[in-house]
Parts: sequence; structure tokens; C-alpha cells
Amino acid sequence: MKMNSGNKKIGIYPGSFDPITNGHIDIIKRSLDLFDEVIVLVSVNNEKSGKFDFETRKRLINESIKELENEIDISKITVDSYEGLTVEYAKKHNSKFIIRGLRVVSDFEYEWQLYKANEFIDKDIEMIFLMAREDYTFISSSSVLELAKYSQNVDISPLVPKPVLKALEERFNIKK
Ligand code: ADP
Repeated sequence: MKMNSGNKKIGIYPGSFDPITNGHIDIIKRSLDLFDEVIVLVSVNNEKSGKFDFETRKRLINESIKELENEIDISKITVDSYEGLTVEYAKKHNSKFIIRGLRVVSDFEYEWQLYKANEFIDKDIEMIFLMAREDYTFISSSSVLELAKYSQNVDISPLVPKPVLKALEERFNIKK
């Protein structure tokens, strides 16, 4: 894990990433314009409901980021996982910024609760919300999983990075 050095501005992007989608990737890319370093943090809090285990999720994130190396400076991105409160992780890593994405109005309610909880824990923490780009508004990990599982004739390649597509094809035995 890279530690903070000097006045580096670090943003933490926590989530389940089960699996990472092109919507998440878009948020990561845009966060790089705001921060010197972005830590993509797989939250280990709700393992039981996970479709992919944590190591696989982390591997898929790393592989998906590697695919972007000709497009963005991937050395500014770190992938990590953490069991516990994101606020604590942020403090440990000298960051006060938690990045989240907002797609539709229904996201707002959940994110607002998270915001209030984080504020309750530590008033110095700032949550930064980036609105999903129009093309990505409908993409979620669960919809991608559902499409891969039940709509095997639907091409999901526009929705997920290549390593995730491969993992889904293997998992759900999709024949190309
Ligand atoms: P969580 O279980 O913590 O909500 P997710 O992996 O589902 O984790 O999402 C992590 C963050 O990314 C959340 O803030 C979510 O709203 C945001 N996000 C998910 N999909 C998209 C998308 N398609 N576009 C923009 N933001 C997204």
C-alpha cells in the first residue's frame, strides 16, 4: 500500500465492485482529475452477499485498470480492500475525501444515509459525489450479473471492462 507523501490529495473510492463495471471505471477516471491519487477500496463488510470473492473482485479491478494504461496514468490508482469503516481507512491513509457515484434519484437516499453516518463519525471527512454520465446511468453490478446469467444472448461487452466480461463468460458458461 502506497502511503501519503507530502500534500498529496488522496481520494478513496469505496464500494462492493461485485463486479466492477464501466460505470465504476468512468468514476475512477474522472476522479483522477480531482485527486493526485485514487484508492479503489473494496469494502469487505458484506461478504456473504458477494457474487465474486474479494480476491477476485480486486484482481478484476486491477486487470481492468491495467487495460487503461494507454489512456490514463494508472500509477495514480491503488486497489485495496478493507474490513471496517471507510472513514477510518481514509484517516489511516491521510485522506479526507470519499468518492461516490450517483446514478438515479433512488441512489440519493442511500448515499445521503452514508453521508450522514460518515459525518456523525468524523465531521472532517468530505464526500464527493460524481453524477453518472448518461450512458452509464443504468449500469449496476447487479444488472450486469443478471444479464450475464439470464440473458445469455445479450451482448454485455459495452457495460463491463474486458477482464470482467471474461470472468462472467466463464462463470455463467456463456458461449461466444
Ligand atoms: P456499494 O455497494 O457500496 O453501493 P457499488 O460497487 O455498487 O458499491 O458502487 C460503488 C459506488 O459507485 C456507489 O456510490 C455507486 O452509486 C457508484 N456507482 C455504481 N455504478 C455506477 C455507475 N454506473 N455510474 C456511476 N456511479 C456508479
